[in-house]
Amino acid sequence: MEIIILIKQVPDTSEVKLDRKTGTLVREGVPSIINPDDRHALECALRIKDGRQARLTVVSMGPPQAIDAVTEALGMGCDAGILLSDRAFAGADTWATSTTLCRAIGKIGNFDLLLCGRQAIDGDTAQTGPQIAEQLGLPQLTRVNEIEKIDARRIVVKRRTETGYERLAANLPALLTITKIPPPVRYPRAGSLLEACTQQAPIEIWNAADIGCQAIEIGLRGSLTQVIRTFSPKTRREGEILSGEIPEMAAGLVERMRRHHLIRQTAQNPT
Ligand SMILES: Cc1cc2nc3c(=O)[nH]c(=O)nc-3n(C[C@H](O)[C@H](O)[C@H](O)COP(=O)(O)OP(=O)(O)OC[C@H]3O[C@@H](n4cnc5c(N)ncnc54)[C@H](O)[C@@H]3O)c2cc1C
Repeated sequence: MEIIILIKQVPDTSEVKLDRKTGTLVREGVPSIINPDDRHALECALRIKDGRQARLTVVSMGPPQAIDAVTEALGMGCDAGILLSDRAFAGADTWATSTTLCRAIGKIGNFDLLLCGRQAIDGDTAQTGPQIAEQLGLPQLTRVNEIEKIDARRIVVKRRTETGYERLAANLPALLTITKIPPPVRYPRAGSLLEACTQQAPIEIWNAADIGCQAIEIGLRGSLTQVIRTFSPKTRREGEILSGEIPEMAAGLVERMRRHHLIRQTAQNPT
């Protein structure tokens, strides 16, 4: 079974700060990590490989330092890694990103399963996986929490809902977007990480020409959307201290809550 896993290197947002003047993320000195949902996608692929013959190819698009994320995935047990890195990819929106990833997938060739994370914690759109499925004409199962069954032709998955689970099936090849699978999610072992770092062979670096992309369809030029402005929403915090006798303050509180639609008047509950 051939499985391709798409992973994105993202800034560790638990440590990200905003530049108040420009409204952009301060990336300098911020550690980069594999996007959390992508780690779950990797774990899904590794669990499939635990139970059957499977070859796992991990693909990332990003600046040269994203090779660390690919190396870490190899250290976890993936068999091959590809980094798509080229200045021409810079400024890509989700459409240009998914177009680029589709070209790389086309170059890799046959596969049975394409795994993405549900959402990246920096861009946060959750668009890339579904766009790839649309561009490649694949069935897509999104927000998957568990792979229940897989054979050479078909996959059955579970997706958590507010009230329980949905069980979904698709014929292969298919694309899945993964989020929060049951633990444990493995981390690379020191030995295999060292092996992945010292072994040059499995990670290939492909540029735009390698995957046959025209300048007009990738990066900023290939982007269908444009960021006009980024800003933090202004939060308005106003406090009001009620004074007087307790029944008077309680009535004042109820009146204010009703005014802000926090409570409603019902027949059973006249307040
Ligand atoms: C309008 C717009 C303009 C942008 N301009 C820039 C810019 O100038 N510079 C810049 O650096 N970024 C820019 N971005 C962000 C960049 O395009 C996104 O990071 C990228 O398109 C992925 O979208 P996302 O982060 O929302 O990922 P999501 O769609 O939330 O990611 C879902 C999954 O898709 C896969 N995936 C996503 N991205 C990658 C990747 N790069 N490699 C491998 N797998 C991936 C992962 O499996 C991930 O879990 C822009 C985004 C938008 C919407």
